[in-house]
Amino acid sequence: MPKKSLSKLLCPVCRGEVADKYKPFCSKRCADVDLNRWLDGGYRIPTEERPIGNVDDDEIL
Ligand SMILES: [Zn+2]
Repeated sequence: MPKKSLSKLLCPVCRGEVADKYKPFCSKRCADVDLNRWLDGGYRIPTEERPIGNVDDDEIL
């Protein structure tokens, strides 16, 4: 039997062919892109929760 090729994996970032070395991405670059997305967008880092309620800073002057 030939190689067992199930559903081909595609890089979630650029839809390119996934490289074994960088699974599930096609390259380190895409892996980084995805990582940054994670940190920046979708999921917020709990430790960075800052109450942004004090917008009235005028009184300091
Ligand atoms: Zn990619």
